[in-house]
Amino acid sequence: MDQSADASGLLEGSDIESQKERVVTEEEWLQKWEMGNIGFHKEQRHPLLQKYLDVLLNGRSGLRIFFPLCGKAVEMKWLADMGHTVVGVEVSEQAVKEFFSDHSLPYCEEPVPEISGAKMFQSTSGNISLYCCSIYDLSSSIIGKFDGVWDRGALVAVNPCDRQRYASLMINLVEKNSSYLLVTVSYDPNKHKGPPFYVPESEIKSLFGNCCEIRCLEKVDDFSERHRQWGLDYFLEVLYLLKFVA
Ligand code: SAH
Repeated sequence: MDQSADASGLLEGSDIESQKERVVTEEEWLQKWEMGNIGFHKEQRHPLLQKYLDVLLNGRSGLRIFFPLCGKAVEMKWLADMGHTVVGVEVSEQAVKEFFSDHSLPYCEEPVPEISGAKMFQSTSGNISLYCCSIYDLSSSIIGKFDGVWDRGALVAVNPCDRQRYASLMINLVEKNSSYLLVTVSYDPNKHKGPPFYVPESEIKSLFGNCCEIRCLEKVDDFSERHRQWGLDYFLEVLYLLKFVA
């Protein structure tokens, strides 16, 4: 069947079966960083975060904002410069170190007593802390709770079999009244194996719907040459606001 009619992102059900079993190991992620195979990294601030920053902040200042699976996302520096406290988690130490060197930020590193082998890298100014470990090793007792979350390239990078675990952890990490901006991607999953993985709206609802209000804020065409090379003929970014009400 020609799926191009589903460019609105309406593919559901059996169409995502093709990605259900796919697993990308931590070792493979480390290799992507070593090989410089990081097409997901953007040098510019994400336009949807710029557009919806006020929605994330909701009139508040001095927030604690979490970046799951952060890579070296440039928005971490941007939000920290605005006076927020940023915490990220990233399995690749190379990515974490590149973040600090790309922005010429001095930092110190220390072990995380609760997690064997994990390290925490913190800017000398203290407002950016990046945990180098698997996100599944974290809990609110280690990193506290957050007023806001920027989830781009994170849920969509999680192996499909781990989504439930990821969502439960994220729910545990947010304060009541927090805002969680979630960017997913929509494309024909029969044509590309991911990551990023296609996560349909029905799944967002089943993962988070019991705990928060979910609003789709925008769907934008993000199709580029990179996606054409993957064999795709459409690629959308879909932004959701998850509102954890008191
Ligand atoms: N959010 C970033 C990076 C997206 S790519 C951005 O917008 O640029 C996904 C990142 O998650 C990669 O850098 C990968 O190394 C990291 N990662 C994958 N599995 C992880 C895990 N279990 N725990 C922490 N980081 C992980």
